[in-house]
This record gives sequence, C-alpha cells and structure tokens, in this order.
Amino acid sequence: MARWTMRQEEILREHGHRGVEAVRAIIAEECGVVHSPHAIEMHAHRIRASLRERKVCPECGAVGVPLNLRTGLCPKCTVFQHVEEQAALSEMLAQERMQACSGKALDEAKKEYDALRQRNSRFRRKHGLSAKQSIKHSLNGQDGA
Ligand SMILES: [Zn+2]
Repeated sequence: MARWTMRQEEILREHGHRGVEAVRAIIAEECGVVHSPHAIEMHAHRIRASLRERKVCPECGAVGVPLNLRTGLCPKCTVFQHVEEQAALSEMLAQERMQACSGKALDEAKKEYDALRQRNSRFRRKHGLSAKQSIKHSLNGQDGA
C-alpha cells in the first residue's frame, strides 16, 4: 500500500468535494502515485476529509452552491453576469442612438439622399414633370398619368 504524503492529504482535503475519482486523478498526475478508490475513501475517513461531491461555481470557485441552470453559475455570479449583459445592452443602445443622430452612416445616407434628389430633379426638368408626378412615375415603374 502506497504511503500518503502531506501533499496528497492536502489534495484530498482540497479536492474531496469533487469526488473520489477526481482526487485519484489529481494525486496520480501530481504525485505519480495511484491509490485505489477504496484506499482513498479509507484515508479520507481517517483524516476526516469529506469526499461528498458538491457543486462548484466555475466562475468564482464557491463550493456547495446551487448552480443556475441557464448560466451554470452560482447565484452571485449569475447576478454579476446579468449586470454585465444589461450594461452591454445599454451601451449598444447608446451607440445606436449616437449613430442615428450623427456619424459616418448618417453622413453617407445624407450624401446619397442629396445625390438622388439631384438626379431626380434633373430627370424632372428634362421631362417637364412636377415633383409629385416624378415620384408616382418611379413608384409605379410606368407612366401613371
Ligand atoms: Zn460564483
């Protein structure tokens, strides 16, 4: 039977909430010693370390917490995530507001509007149409008069 070092006991205490197999894998990887699941259970009992599996928040590492089904996080981290989402949304809306009132897209749209208006105006003059007739003409795709 392999002997237990202080580091292995530390791992047992620190990772016991992840279950026997996890403890076994960590000790094997870190210490190069493979204990049987039974040996791990026995030793955990001896040093009064718990091997009961408990949920861990992947974000903050809190042990034994209920995890939100949608976020997979503890209640605190779930709220933090919601705050972040709302802040991002708020920023997006503010940016949309800004772009609707100024900026490159608006300038380009204005330029296009001016260019089209000039083109239509030239077309009207050339064919002797009023502004209304010209719009009707282009919407119907034919001479609607
Ligand atoms: Zn958390």
